[in-house]
Amino acid sequence: MRTLDELLAAGKVERDVPLGPLSTYRRGGPARWFLRAESSDDLRIVVPDDVPVLVLGRGSNLVVASSGFDGLVVHLPSSSAGLVIDGVDVDAPGGCPLPLLARRTAAEGVGGFAWYVGIPGSVGGAIRMNAGCHGSDTSDVLVAATVWHLHTGVEDRRGPEGLDLSYRHSNLTDDELVLSASFRGVPSTPADEESAMREVTRWRRETQPG
Ligand SMILES: Cc1cc2nc3c(=O)[nH]c(=O)nc-3n(C[C@H](O)[C@H](O)[C@H](O)COP(=O)(O)OP(=O)(O)OC[C@H]3O[C@@H](n4cnc5c(N)ncnc54)[C@H](O)[C@@H]3O)c2cc1C
Repeated sequence: MRTLDELLAAGKVERDVPLGPLSTYRRGGPARWFLRAESSDDLRIVVPDDVPVLVLGRGSNLVVASSGFDGLVVHLPSSSAGLVIDGVDVDAPGGCPLPLLARRTAAEGVGGFAWYVGIPGSVGGAIRMNAGCHGSDTSDVLVAATVWHLHTGVEDRRGPEGLDLSYRHSNLTDDELVLSASFRGVPSTPADEESAMREVTRWRRETQPG
């Protein structure tokens, strides 16, 4: 665990980083401080209470003010490193892209995740808002999330009830970061899941604006 002061002294935190290019809407000013995390160890940091924090996943559900963010932005690596599929049990890092989670589970014949193929966010972002579509929600497949509190350095693990997941809602606060999550799917076949992903993609093309 490292403090913001240690990270600043080590040159690990960048200053005045434009946030627009990191969001789908490509708008918004700079972050005062920006931590480009490369691994989950980089994410276990403690930030003073008076420094606002913003956890940034894939930026697909974020509108950044033109004045930027006067605090620390913690950017998760957009990677499937650490994604483990064991039978129908799936462990995924918080920054794992949802379409990748859908494709990797499909390839292993694990059902329950195909609908993620059309959502351009990350695992952590999906848990924060209990993302869903096509009749499914994140709460349907989530077993538990490992959550790091950026202001206290306390880590805890919460299931769907502990996260108070309901329609597009969780009780995660701005200073809580999803490090990783465990999911449980259902037995299926790669062919059935490929077909389910094709159907989701077709449905989204026909019904969704973007
Ligand atoms: C074209 C398009 C289609 C979409 N379709 C759907 C849809 O069908 N269903 C749906 O539910 N949503 C949809 N979304 C919204 C969005 O993709 C989801 O909400 C997604 O889960 C957000 O993930 P993200 O990583 O992009 O989050 P970000 O935009 O980076 O952040 C959004 C919020 O989540 C928080 N957050 C991000 N990562 C973490 C983390 N690791 N730990 C804690 N908090 C975190 C951020 O602090 C912020 O409050 C769509 C968006 C677009 C642009």
